[in-house]
Amino acid sequence: MDVFIEPIGRLINEFSKLPGVGKKTAQRYAYKIIGMSESEAKDFAESIIYCKQRVKYCRVCGNFTENEICDICRTRDKSVICVVKEPKDVIAMEKLHEYKGVYHVLHGVLSPMDGIGPNDIRIKELLSRIDDGVKEVIMATNPDVEGEATAMYIARLIKPLGVNVTRLAHGIPVGGELEYTDEVTLARALIERKQI
Ligand SMILES: [Zn+2]
Repeated sequence: MDVFIEPIGRLINEFSKLPGVGKKTAQRYAYKIIGMSESEAKDFAESIIYCKQRVKYCRVCGNFTENEICDICRTRDKSVICVVKEPKDVIAMEKLHEYKGVYHVLHGVLSPMDGIGPNDIRIKELLSRIDDGVKEVIMATNPDVEGEATAMYIARLIKPLGVNVTRLAHGIPVGGELEYTDEVTLARALIERKQI
């Protein structure tokens, strides 16, 4: 990093902390910032702080929100809970305009290899949401090894509570992610979901 003067080196270093951003890309981003007007650069920097200050996790579902409880939890049908790995999966599902229930974001999936067990993701919080009003839990974790194992693990805990547990139908490529599944395929996987 010595070839760069200190302020540029520092900015490149910050950008390279982002996922998928290597040194070259980080350098390009830094040059772009330097090329901005001062007010543009200020807007950019402030939006990072603004986001950090305003965005929190919904107390109920774990999705991003600006309030204690998110709009989806406040306004939608609570008898169906769709369980996903990450907030970005909520976005993938919402784009379909097909689903009317609420969500539960696990913030991860079970992965013994990485030392991630049931207590490391929001399973307890999900169980505490299951009451008489809940009729169906849709397991919408990704169709990869960890996603499948997590869906099965949770299904075993919830089914004895008398709740219908379903899994998105196949059609999403195995090993694929909800986020990258086209909307028609994902909508079909939702409609044709199967009991587990
Ligand atoms: Zn919520």
